[in-house]
This record gives sequence, C-alpha cells and structure tokens, in this order.
Amino acid sequence: MKKIIIAIDGTSSTGKSSIAKKLANKIGYTYIDTGAMYRAVTFLALKNGVFRPDGSIDENTLDSLLGKAKIEFRRNEATSHSDMYLNGENIERDIRGMEVSSHVSPIAAIPFVRRQLVLQQQIMGKAGGIVMDGRDIGTVVFPQAEMKIFMTASPEVRAQRRYKELQEKGMPASYDEILKNIHDRDYIDSHRSVSPLKQADDAYLMDNSDMTFDEEMDVLLKIFNDKAR
Ligand code: C5P
Repeated sequence: MKKIIIAIDGTSSTGKSSIAKKLANKIGYTYIDTGAMYRAVTFLALKNGVFRPDGSIDENTLDSLLGKAKIEFRRNEATSHSDMYLNGENIERDIRGMEVSSHVSPIAAIPFVRRQLVLQQQIMGKAGGIVMDGRDIGTVVFPQAEMKIFMTASPEVRAQRRYKELQEKGMPASYDEILKNIHDRDYIDSHRSVSPLKQADDAYLMDNSDMTFDEEMDVLLKIFNDKAR
C-alpha cells in the first residue's frame, strides 16, 4: 500500500475532525487539524489586542507577532491525540471556545497568515501518510492529494452537533449564537479572495446530514482502499 495524502475539506462543524482523526487512527496515518492552526493565530491576535474596537485587524502588529510565534502540535499521551501549542503553552482548550470561533474567519482571510500556515502544512505533510482537514487542503495545500473528500451538512444539523459538543465539554454555548456563527463562517470562508472554501473538481462530495458515523467511515475506508492500493 502507498502512503498517500488524504485531504478532507468542507464547511464548519461538519464533523471533519472527528472522522479524520478516527480514519487516521484506523489506517495508521498522522492526523493534522489545520483549523487548529488558524485558531492558534486568532488566539495570539486576541491575546495581544490585535482586534481594534471597531472589529478591524491591526495587520502590522499581527505580522510581527506571527513572525516570532511558534505554532506546533505536540502529542498528548493521555488522549493519544495532538494538542495545539503556542510559544510552548498548551492552548488546546482556549482555541475551541466561542471567542476564538467568532474571530477566526477574518484572521484566516489574511494573505500573509495563509502563506505562513500553508507552508508549514506542506512541510508537515509532504512525506504522505497523513489525513489533513481544513478548507483548502485539496485545492491549495495539496492539490496533488490522492484522496479528496468534501464534507458538508445542513447548517442546523451542524449547529446542533457543535452545541452538543460544547455542552459535553462544559463550555458555555447558545444554539442560536452557534447557528449564526456557522452561517457567518460559511459566508466569509467561501467569499474570501485568497483560497476560498470550494470543492475541488476531483473531490468526493459527502453530505452527512443523514449519515451515521459508521456509514461515513465505511465510505472513507472504501475510497482509501481503492486509492492507496
Ligand atoms: O476547522 P475549524 O472550524 O476549526 O477551522 C476554523 C476556521 O479556520 C474556519 O472557519 C476557517 O475560517 C479557517 N480555516 C481555513 N483554512 C483551513 C482550516 C481552517 O481558512 N485549512
């Protein structure tokens, strides 16, 4: 079997990371959550007052902060997954809350932010044997990826899933706020000028609104077995 690159893109809160993580585990690949990297930059921006009171972004300050920042994944032995670290500090929990979620899309639309993170992602994945999820993996980061999936589901189904996930983690959340955030992120992610969210021509479209996790996994494993042979 070849060590291929698996790109999983799609809209926010479609369960990309849960299925990507599980798939990686099952086939012995490394999972890379690129959304966590954009979230880490957003956390850095929020922590350093880069958002002005009118919501605009002080890009010069962010550029110099990013030049010095160390954004990396480190394995968490307790969960067997990777956690996101910023300058040596574990920020895994900080980046999952609503504050980061509601500021991440404008940060991810800045060209120099994307340039830096895409380069880092290409270095991490170039040897293959990876499952990488995000918005532009199959179109920009690895257009040559052997297996590409584009996942989506209705906004209401996604908001309900995200609401449940935050509740289970004991993190404050309102369903209406989450639904609005999903609509906003879909809009910004698919209308930005650099690397907008769109399905690659050769990606397999999977709408999982009415699919169980096991059904999704069966589809992915079937495609994987075909592509990696
Ligand atoms: O995947 P997740 O929802 O954690 O991603 C957070 C945000 O990061 C997305 O809404 C999107 O704005 C941005 N993102 C991106 N490109 C990626 C991954 C995430 O623009 N490859």
